[in-house]
Amino acid sequence: MTRVLAVDARAPLAASIEEAAGLLRAGELVAFATETVYGLGADATQADAVAKIFAAKGRPQSNPLIAHVSSVEMARAWAGAWPEVAEVLATAFWPGPLTVIVPRSDRVTAAVSAGLDTVGLRVPEPLVARAVIEALGRPVAAPSANRSEHVSPTTAQHVLDDLQGRLALVLDSGPTGVGIESTVIDVTGSVPCVLRRGPVSLAALRAVLGAVDIAEQHVDHGAPQASPGQGLRHYAPDVPCVRAEVSSYRGLPGDGVVSVGHAVAGAHALLEPEDAARELYAVLRQLESVGVERIVVLMPPETPQWAAVRDRLIRATVVAAP
Ligand code: AMP
Ligand code: MG
Repeated sequence: MTRVLAVDARAPLAASIEEAAGLLRAGELVAFATETVYGLGADATQADAVAKIFAAKGRPQSNPLIAHVSSVEMARAWAGAWPEVAEVLATAFWPGPLTVIVPRSDRVTAAVSAGLDTVGLRVPEPLVARAVIEALGRPVAAPSANRSEHVSPTTAQHVLDDLQGRLALVLDSGPTGVGIESTVIDVTGSVPCVLRRGPVSLAALRAVLGAVDIAEQHVDHGAPQASPGQGLRHYAPDVPCVRAEVSSYRGLPGDGVVSVGHAVAGAHALLEPEDAARELYAVLRQLESVGVERIVVLMPPETPQWAAVRDRLIRATVVAAP
């Protein structure tokens, strides 16, 4: 059975934090909100606990997890090495939705990194998440708390819809604020390289680092990839989901239409990039649950402000037949 514990996002009870940390210490799975999406957490030093994450999600063993830490000091202590660039990024963006790939230390169990010699670290912003990690005193491996390849969860109910009975506890602190997964940047090479676009934009990264590469996005799933977040189909709803340009869309009866960046009559409109990121996954799950035959996403413009949302939309959809 999965227990759900409501917690005040700004003033959680010490007993609730201790209960979550105690379960993690005992090798159990606990879901909690980060600012991006809900995470399915396990003690990153316990191989058996980390194995439960892969089993609960049905996640391929080749897909590494992000290790969440409560402070920059904890990141430095648990990284195999801590490059200057990592320090610059941590200072500029932590706590926040940026995952930094650094060399892995042996103290983090190998399964977290899916056998790679690197590890993704991040300090999440919400007080509850940091308090739980702090109470455990060790990094918490936590991918999104959804079934593998389904839409990521932005509420505790989404977690239950996907994983009820497969984890010990969900800390329910309300909907997440950002709504899409963290930006992932690898700082182990000569030039920092963005592996997954996200809430921290390329422009923001370049403003503090100068040169930043971007890995080719949307490579084929199945092909070897530095970051599994690059897989083409990811985060997708359970009903057929297609994308189209506003100008070319021809509606079919049974379509559930989400219009992103444009107001379109009869469509669920997500007009601004930040609001769209926050609400997108809940809207997709909602359309799934009301039983539309097909979800149609009308795409936002190809501008930098929409880059992260476009990335997630492209992963969730296939191009509509003309
Ligand atoms: P999720 O938390 O479900 O969005 O998945 C974690 C994502 O973090 C993966 O899909 C990767 O994109 C990324 N990631 C975590 N660790 C690494 C790593 N060591 N190297 C490259 N990417 C990583
Ligand atoms: Mg995920």
